[in-house]
Amino acid sequence: MKTDVVIIGAGLAGLSCGLELAENGRDVFLFEARDWVGGRTASWDENGMLVESGFHRYIGYYQALPKVLERAGVRLDDIIRWEERIEIRTPQHNSPGLFGVAPVHGPLKMIAGIIGNNEMLSPLDKASLIPFFVAGFKDFFLNPDKLDYISVYDYARKYGVRQAAIDYLLGPFSTGLFFKPIQEYSALAFFGLFAPGLTRFYKMRIGAFLGGMTEVMCAPIARAIERHGGKVYTGTPVQGLLVEEGQVVGVALEDEEVRANQVVLATSLDKAQQLLQPHFSQHPWFKPLLNLPAMPAVTIQIDLDRPALPTDRTTFGPGTCLASFAEQSRTTFKHVPGRLSIILTPPEKFLNMPAEEVLSSVIRDAKQLGMDIKPHIRDFRVISHHADFYSFAPKGYHKQRPGQQTPIRGLKLAGDYTKQPYFATMEGAVVSGLDAAKAILTEA
Ligand SMILES: Cc1cc2nc3c(=O)[nH]c(=O)nc-3n(C[C@H](O)[C@H](O)[C@H](O)COP(=O)(O)OP(=O)(O)OC[C@H]3O[C@@H](n4cnc5c(N)ncnc54)[C@H](O)[C@@H]3O)c2cc1C
Repeated sequence: MKTDVVIIGAGLAGLSCGLELAENGRDVFLFEARDWVGGRTASWDENGMLVESGFHRYIGYYQALPKVLERAGVRLDDIIRWEERIEIRTPQHNSPGLFGVAPVHGPLKMIAGIIGNNEMLSPLDKASLIPFFVAGFKDFFLNPDKLDYISVYDYARKYGVRQAAIDYLLGPFSTGLFFKPIQEYSALAFFGLFAPGLTRFYKMRIGAFLGGMTEVMCAPIARAIERHGGKVYTGTPVQGLLVEEGQVVGVALEDEEVRANQVVLATSLDKAQQLLQPHFSQHPWFKPLLNLPAMPAVTIQIDLDRPALPTDRTTFGPGTCLASFAEQSRTTFKHVPGRLSIILTPPEKFLNMPAEEVLSSVIRDAKQLGMDIKPHIRDFRVISHHADFYSFAPKGYHKQRPGQQTPIRGLKLAGDYTKQPYFATMEGAVVSGLDAAKAILTEA
């Protein structure tokens, strides 16, 4: 087989890249290892239960993703239900904290969150966050490297954030978003996630998906690629890169070779390293990338015979293994009466634990948060991502992230681990895919 561009991986990076190229008249073959598209935003049937890669929230300031969706014929408001508040539940407090996250769309809830929640955070606790945020955003723009060597915890201590504000606000927020304890990831990743919201604060709010993400978001993009003449092959893992005289000239599938003018490697970090290692381990440009450590994520998804919570809302559970979670039976998984989707912390503890044991830990900790789920469980699945994310540890790894353009002819990179302003998010994946496509289009 022969084509113009081969893309490896149909996550949001590969799909966005494919759409951009196909719309610009390029012949695209997209090879995806799994039987469905979507990568870390996928949803699928896991031995009789519908699951997703993990519960996701769309952030209102995203710009590239909604444009790609529009080009694929998907209206954002048809697939997202907006949330104006998040909830924090702890074993120590009788009632949950409710915090507004939509300054323009839900200003009263925002104000109520700041002046309320006094059982959880005193006015002094809340005020102690101000110097932290001011210094953090200043450093983010003026001195980002420095932030990548200090943990969120140490940075918060340095700027005098009180312990309650760390334990009940910063900690849950960060662990819920990055899966790791607040001591274990860099302040750069933390402020980086909020920074785009500063200039687009009027767009800030978060959204739950109305349906599995493959169905409502990724499959429509794949169909749009095909409408423009591209081909999307699922269940087709790429086994290796074809490299001739230092140039990438195609890919090897299980039983054939596909030659191409350009190959875009749009997998997660660990899979990209595996494909690059045999050819470029001695190349100085690839060394930082090949040495960039990865980190895991683990989620558990539980079908129930009734909702676990009265509202489908993003919730954090500090002091328990439920880093962040949501009831989803009125949003993403409407086919069941109750549905909890939970991201677990610390992921390493749960990665190789038998599924029944993971469930037992979750049942125990959920009870501490006021959810007695045990008698209501119908089915559950543990979904693990062994090494899909680049490490956010405060060790300066950010500068090891590669750009999309490589020094090798015929090879581009895309994926959330490549350099773009949105870190490991859906938006970051899309931006990287579009940048890889633009690099190809400007080269011709
Ligand atoms: C639990 C969890 C929660 C998250 N929450 C959020 C959130 O709330 N908001 C947000 O914006 N982001 C969130 N993210 C992050 C977001 O999902 C990712 O940043 C984004 O989906 C990454 O897309 P990608 O295309 O770079 O990589 P991936 O989605 O990993 O896509 C890579 C694709 O390459 C395929 N592949 C790998 N090797 C091969 C091969 N040899 N041949 C062919 N195909 C191959 C894989 O199967 C996969 O489909 C979350 C992620 C997880 C796991």
